[in-house]
Amino acid sequence: MASDEKPICHGDWHPRGSSRSVETRLVERDGQVRAIAEDGAELAAAVFSRLDITARVGSIPRRIEFPDGSLFETTDNDAVDHLLLANGRKRAGFVHGLERFHPRLLVFVVAVFLLSGLVYRFALPVLVEVAVAVTPPVVPKLMSVSTLETLDRTMLDETKLDEAKRRVISDGFARIAAKSARGASAYTLNFRTGGAIGPNAFALPDGTLIITDELIELADGDTEMLIGVLAHEIGHVELEHSLRQIYRAAGMAGLIMLIAGDVGDSVEDLLVQGGGLVALSYSREAEAAADRHSVELMQDAGYDPTAIARFFEVIEKKLGDTSDTNILSTHPGTPERKKAIREYEAELHRKKTEN
Ligand SMILES: [Zn+2]
Repeated sequence: MASDEKPICHGDWHPRGSSRSVETRLVERDGQVRAIAEDGAELAAAVFSRLDITARVGSIPRRIEFPDGSLFETTDNDAVDHLLLANGRKRAGFVHGLERFHPRLLVFVVAVFLLSGLVYRFALPVLVEVAVAVTPPVVPKLMSVSTLETLDRTMLDETKLDEAKRRVISDGFARIAAKSARGASAYTLNFRTGGAIGPNAFALPDGTLIITDELIELADGDTEMLIGVLAHEIGHVELEHSLRQIYRAAGMAGLIMLIAGDVGDSVEDLLVQGGGLVALSYSREAEAAADRHSVELMQDAGYDPTAIARFFEVIEKKLGDTSDTNILSTHPGTPERKKAIREYEAELHRKKTEN
């Protein structure tokens, strides 16, 4: 009877395994969903629970498969949702979607995630090492110049420190830079107001170091501690940590692009804006290695080798965990870290006295 027939929507019906298409309307009658041709002929029918309905994905046409293998296709997504809703499928939401997910697609997605996990874990570090090894010196130079330019434009400002204060720090810096493997000429120290970066010190891959007025103020005249921090930053340069970091970030962005088809804003910012370089924290191993470098350089230059540990102690007390861009966020002065620094100093001392 046409009287108790409930129209659902219009679309095209395809017989099983055929691309032949018949203009059809979908109706609900006597507890069954029916595909009816324009001439009134019933092409397929089934109770709702036996229908296979694809999940809604944007404006992609929905497909409803009848038990006989024939397909009904419609662009009327709302009507299909309404049909689902009317049959109590609302709460099924996500799980229902997963059910309808083609198992092969699920396997593919899982495989992609596993693969990218493996690439990240094993291939990326290798690629980064290769990239570092083949990078001509001009590349870190260019990276550093553009990074400092960006930082100066966006975050950093001219130093407000007076000449005499800067001189003391520059002289100390020259002393440790002279003891470094690359030599004093490989390093330049820049003074800036940190702004959003706050109290901080960091190194760019080409040996350009930046120290902020805010950090210097926090040190409260204890230049030796600051030199210890700069020695640590020289360690990051000599061990090529920052270059590795950039390549790792670039590789990650590549991976994300591979999976998502697009690099998210944050990753893009990270790569484009120099600020990302500062926010990128090094691995714990890299930090420990840079700490040991600081101990060695400071000792060679005749300073307190454990000044960097002392620095962490003092700064932690003064700074707390108030900001997430300051030097403590990228260089957490954990008790283990301070202990490791002191132990390394003792070890060097022992070796020295044994010889
Ligand atoms: Zn560091």
